[in-house]
Amino acid sequence: MYVDSHCHLSFPELAGRLSGIRAAMAAAGVDRALCICTTLEEFDRVHALATGHDNFWCSVGVHPDQEEIAEPSVGDLSTLAARPRVVAIGETGLDYFRLAGRSVEQMEWQRERFRVHIRAAIATALPLVIHTRSASEDTLRLLHEEGGARAGGVFHCFTETMAVARAALDLGFYISFSGILTFKTASELRDVARFVPLDRCLIETDSPYLAPVPHRGKTNTPANVPWVAKQLAELKGLPVAEVAAATSRNFENLFVRTSEAT
Ligand SMILES: [Zn+2]
Ligand SMILES: [Zn+2]
Repeated sequence: MYVDSHCHLSFPELAGRLSGIRAAMAAAGVDRALCICTTLEEFDRVHALATGHDNFWCSVGVHPDQEEIAEPSVGDLSTLAARPRVVAIGETGLDYFRLAGRSVEQMEWQRERFRVHIRAAIATALPLVIHTRSASEDTLRLLHEEGGARAGGVFHCFTETMAVARAALDLGFYISFSGILTFKTASELRDVARFVPLDRCLIETDSPYLAPVPHRGKTNTPANVPWVAKQLAELKGLPVAEVAAATSRNFENLFVRTSEAT
């Protein structure tokens, strides 16, 4: 059985297709998924997925790319995080890829938003789901400055270097691999995946995006997460069943057990 640790089932590409998606998951042996929140406005829909299905959980957070949306406070995030089946704060982090003509200095609003999420994660004792793109140095710096290691969490859809992976592991974080791991051009990332200890690896789809080979370019769903596990197993020279079991156990340790303890 496989777990998809990061998907967006409330996005327009997938909303309204839930029964088909759940049937495909069951057929593919994907027995659990974490539904990720990207705005406060979206939270109720993401939360309904988690409360309506005993194999779904959800996060609460505002994605760094989201603009012209409600800006969350530590209090907002903590209040929503106290609801049943909310097991993580995020996705949050920094994304300097789409600056839209702005300088990195002008992205202070993103850094402030990330700090708010780290403080909420520490306050609620929930792990962080971190998105970082073209911004790894600042992402790590803010985690250090805010004491993010106390919350822990995962660097999701990892596409960074070996050095960043090492720094994330040193902070106690997990590293999640997506369908990008199967892309022909991702040889550097495959080296990183060989290096990350299996007991710190998660797998995800980030659906509806980033469908793994052989479905690349199509709309992605959680049913495709076994392709990521298969690639990771090949890189580590292990049976895929072992990678499935380990990543499922890691998911439980990071998200499910945390929520049951609180
Ligand atoms: Zn992301
Ligand atoms: Zn995402």
